Amino acid sequence: MASLRRIAVVGASLAGVRTVRSLRDRGFDGEVVLVGAEKRLPYDRPPLSKELLAGQVSLSDIQLLSDGDVSALNLDLRLGRRARFLDPGRKALELDDSETLHYDALVIATGSAPWMPPGWDRFEGVHLLRTADDALALRSAFQGSPRVAVVGGGFIGCEVASTARRLGCEVVLIEPYPAPMARVLGPEIAHGLAGIPLDAGVRLHCGTAVEGFDGGQRVERVRLQDGGVIDADVVVVGIGARPVTDWLSGSGVSVADGVLCDERCATSVTGVYAAGDVARWFNPLFGQAMRIEHWANASEQGAFVARAIIEGPDSGGFSSVPYAWSDQHGAKIQTAGVLQPADRVRIVEGTVEERRFVALYEREERLTGVVSVNSPRGMLTYRRLLAQRGSRGVRADDQVEPGVEPSPSA
Ligand SMILES: Cc1cc2nc3c(=O)[nH]c(=O)nc-3n(C[C@H](O)[C@H](O)[C@H](O)COP(=O)(O)OP(=O)(O)OC[C@H]3O[C@@H](n4cnc5c(N)ncnc54)[C@H](O)[C@@H]3O)c2cc1C
Repeated sequence: MASLRRIAVVGASLAGVRTVRSLRDRGFDGEVVLVGAEKRLPYDRPPLSKELLAGQVSLSDIQLLSDGDVSALNLDLRLGRRARFLDPGRKALELDDSETLHYDALVIATGSAPWMPPGWDRFEGVHLLRTADDALALRSAFQGSPRVAVVGGGFIGCEVASTARRLGCEVVLIEPYPAPMARVLGPEIAHGLAGIPLDAGVRLHCGTAVEGFDGGQRVERVRLQDGGVIDADVVVVGIGARPVTDWLSGSGVSVADGVLCDERCATSVTGVYAAGDVARWFNPLFGQAMRIEHWANASEQGAFVARAIIEGPDSGGFSSVPYAWSDQHGAKIQTAGVLQPADRVRIVEGTVEERRFVALYEREERLTGVVSVNSPRGMLTYRRLLAQRGSRGVRADDQVEPGVEPSPSA
């Protein structure tokens, strides 16, 4: 640590903020520069599709850093500034206003950005949801109870549909898989859960994809590949995100659907680390490389990277059980582990009909993942089991060893 005078963190959001807090918690008293492309103080994203979109909380309620924190942490915070080039040979980071920052260690925490096919944004009324500004724009678009088409039935699309219904909008959800969330949860559980949006009044169009939109300046209709047409005043596109790595081109940092990292979250370039949605790291617990676009991972990995920088190889690897939650129409859906559609699914607590259950995903008698609905205690038990041995194999009826705790999250 003696030779570390300045640590630069690129991406002022969850993973980046957790890194800088953890650096200070661990006693690093050198310079910490946090560079963020957004102009706002860092904030939490999960409420953007839920409470903030519904108007139940304000932006100040979801801030990850206050002005007071910035002073207390002695941060050199550069907001509204985008990193545009990394030159590891000179340990130099170039920003979009041409300023060059030198660093001794650097953390890439540039997250992921939602994707939309070319031309779809030609129409007014077509929205993406990633930033606070996106959420505020969508909130005003939902005023007056418009007809809303949500394209994509992943977690974010389903949450937007839920909030839009709650605000009194007419909502249609379009998903190419046979049921919302089927890509992640597999067909069996996803079919069982389709009643949740249906009972809330969401119309589902599953098994077909969107071909394009029609309208004048504003969007008026969504054309489906099965020939269907849906009238819509507002369209929300939630069909996936891509890691933000374009600015690393030419830097020598290896990228392949994310920044490639070893188990310590170190990249192919000495002194450069990655954390959060952007990082594809080797998870020793599961014996495989993975990139995870969920809150708990960004939070834990951000904190770990600070440790990896300060402790060096003594830090060990970042072992983590992938975990996510989603709130839809009053139901809390949680997933943990590595779910595969081909896994055998076994309900061990509650029933799908009563919308309170725990489902285990198993391969060759080994537990690979767990999905729960309105059963946080059941989820915690199996998360602990997965944290114990990951892919080395745990059976669902194994006992949790004392002291095994997945990190706290919502
Ligand atoms: C609407 C929404 C709802 C969600 N809900 C849930 C949920 O319920 N449960 C759950 O588990 N997860 C949820 N997530 C996912 C979770 O929020 C993300 O996994 C988490 O935000 C990832 O944090 P991150 O810091 O890695 O990346 P991000 O939050 O994407 O932040 C990256 C930051 O880097 C900045 N940046 C990018 N390029 C540059 C550059 N070149 N220079 C400087 N800055 C740059 C970006 O502007 C951004 O501010 C949700 C996400 C969204 C969008």
